[in-house]
Amino acid sequence: MSVCESILSLKPYQGGKPISELQRELGLEKVVKLASNENPSVVSPKVRNAITNSIDEIGRYPDGNGFELKRSIANHLSVEPQSITLGNGSNELLELIARMYLCSSDDEVIYSQYSFVVYSMVAKAIGAKSVVTPANKFGHDLNAMLSSINNRTKLIFIANPNNPTGTILKDEELFEFLSKIPSSVIVVLDQAYFEYLDADDNALDWLSKFNNLIITRTFSKAYGLAGLRVGYSLSSVEIAEYINRLRQPFNVSHIAQNAATAALADQDFLASSIKSNYEGLAQLSNGFNRLGLRYIPSSANFISLEVDDPNFVYEKLLTKGFIVRPIEIEGYLRVTVGTRQENEDFLEALKLVLDLK
Ligand SMILES: *Cc1c(COP(=O)(O)O)cnc(C)c1O
Repeated sequence: MSVCESILSLKPYQGGKPISELQRELGLEKVVKLASNENPSVVSPKVRNAITNSIDEIGRYPDGNGFELKRSIANHLSVEPQSITLGNGSNELLELIARMYLCSSDDEVIYSQYSFVVYSMVAKAIGAKSVVTPANKFGHDLNAMLSSINNRTKLIFIANPNNPTGTILKDEELFEFLSKIPSSVIVVLDQAYFEYLDADDNALDWLSKFNNLIITRTFSKAYGLAGLRVGYSLSSVEIAEYINRLRQPFNVSHIAQNAATAALADQDFLASSIKSNYEGLAQLSNGFNRLGLRYIPSSANFISLEVDDPNFVYEKLLTKGFIVRPIEIEGYLRVTVGTRQENEDFLEALKLVLDLK
């Protein structure tokens, strides 16, 4: 009875500590979680309604083809519904895509140092070879990625904005990069934080130019549905059809589909989330400046900041009821933008903790 060797090298995903766990452990009543890049806004009433109205149908399997949600995404982005694949969070799509293209232990996947942990997790799980390019000023070094390509390279993952650094690549840089990639290599452009940029959607135009491009997006961040698990990919119809063969038949629940459709229709909620995130980023950055802390300027809904002893600071913040996130960048902690009040309280707690040192 032995599991596959690739599984032995896996470590369980370390998520942000759940609020209820910290409450149990420390007997704290009030806990603020700024650890998992979740949207701190109160649920949109439209989404709440959609969920309530879905309850009567939970005895039935969901629409396995996600017709309504795909149609809404297609209308919203002006793309063809056949280019869309829904996933149980965009994480599921990242995994499916890896399984589609990494077929043997010789196959190589390229991603950057300090990029999203799921890339290394799926590569390890499959038993493919990870080629990790060194980060450049914490962000992706596209030239290093380009020069790592060889005839065993099958896949490249790029998160833009990147997590956990919040760094961003310019559209021109990305476009030039894509132009240089052999068509046999698939590029996944993970745009989990795209909405927060409030920028032109240039990547959509690239889909028609590059058949090897797959874009992934999610309802977990700016749309505020992390708990429901729904994301999607945009790709050529051919690729979408392959993902469709591999995915579970009912991978996105009925409630998640209806909630995501309602979330898309509530662009006011999105706009207010984006605005409050901008303000929160400024509030936190100003606070860090006042405390004399260095941080990586962020284009997403979190900031990674430099502290002397991240574990000490993390643990002490827990005792004060604040959950942040230790990350793989030495000397850094990541904090998610909360509500104005949460950010203020966090900065206060951080100041107290740093004074303890
Ligand atoms: C949060 C995140 C995702 C998405 O997660 P899902 O909830 O599975 O959609 C994907 N990529 C990055 C870089 C993220 O930070």
